[in-house]
Amino acid sequence: MVKSRIPAPRRSLLLGASALLGTSALLVACGAQGSPSAAGDAAHRPAVPSASTTGAAGGTPSVAARPTPGEGTETPTAPDRTPEPSASSTAPASPHASPTPSAPRTTAVPSQPSGSTAATPPQPSSHAPATGVLRHTASGGRTVALTFDDGPGPATGQVLDLLAQYGAKATFCEIGDNAKTRPAAVQRILAEGHRLCDHTVDHPQPMHTRPHEQQVAEIADAKSMIENAAGNSPTITWWRAPGGDFTAENERIGADLGMKSLGWTVDPRDWSRPGVQAIVSNVQQNLRPGGVVLMHDGGGDRSQTVAALKQLLPWLVAQGYAFDFPQS
Ligand SMILES: [Zn+2]
Repeated sequence: MVKSRIPAPRRSLLLGASALLGTSALLVACGAQGSPSAAGDAAHRPAVPSASTTGAAGGTPSVAARPTPGEGTETPTAPDRTPEPSASSTAPASPHASPTPSAPRTTAVPSQPSGSTAATPPQPSSHAPATGVLRHTASGGRTVALTFDDGPGPATGQVLDLLAQYGAKATFCEIGDNAKTRPAAVQRILAEGHRLCDHTVDHPQPMHTRPHEQQVAEIADAKSMIENAAGNSPTITWWRAPGGDFTAENERIGADLGMKSLGWTVDPRDWSRPGVQAIVSNVQQNLRPGGVVLMHDGGGDRSQTVAALKQLLPWLVAQGYAFDFPQS
């Protein structure tokens, strides 16, 4: 469907979709707490300044003069870095960036008032690790699933342009608020054969400490917001907890909504703007066939991510990787 300068035989797991080819909208990316300083189109252009090899770009938070590096701290959309993805199938450990590294799930949550001991059906303790987090492509073999979180944002259009250039398909884990703000971007994502994933309404972190009802609302409402933005009732089969903060409890919530937990195996920490080369190298060194790569098209200045993608896409093609979607 799109020009592909890549080997031809790519499976075509595309989603049909109506929709237009809107461009990514203009508002600021997610997390944008209260300051949606309307970073217009122009704003997202600066994204690929010059081939900023290293931190260079980091210094120029071009777009929305929002939280810069520190974003991880105050969490506009505290990224989804997760140092333990590969670890195991469970390992929902202490993924997120949140300042409380060690206290991830310490807090006994009030989540389930009565149910704890009783063998009531609902969900187990919020402390219980999730057991069904997906961290593999659907087809296996020499495939890779690229996933982009926290958008749609100012950089989404650029990411889509690059993906199209290489005939690559990806999965976008969107924040409900952002999808609502940038419906054109959501529609373009689908129209170009990519897929959507629910990434909660406003990226709460840590997720597992939130009351049960709030977690339900975060996941369920985001799904609705994304579907509404898409306008054509797309099927959303995955959801990703902010920061990869999956627990048996929220995994259950997602499952009840027809979505599986989507994790990842490679986290280049692009959200922290470690430098283009650092992002590229991380992926090149850690990706294994069937892996799921986590990157971000929202949540702040993503110029490094875009620049890294320009190197990674041709590299992936050269390495013989076919682009796939995550297991579902
Ligand atoms: Zn995220």
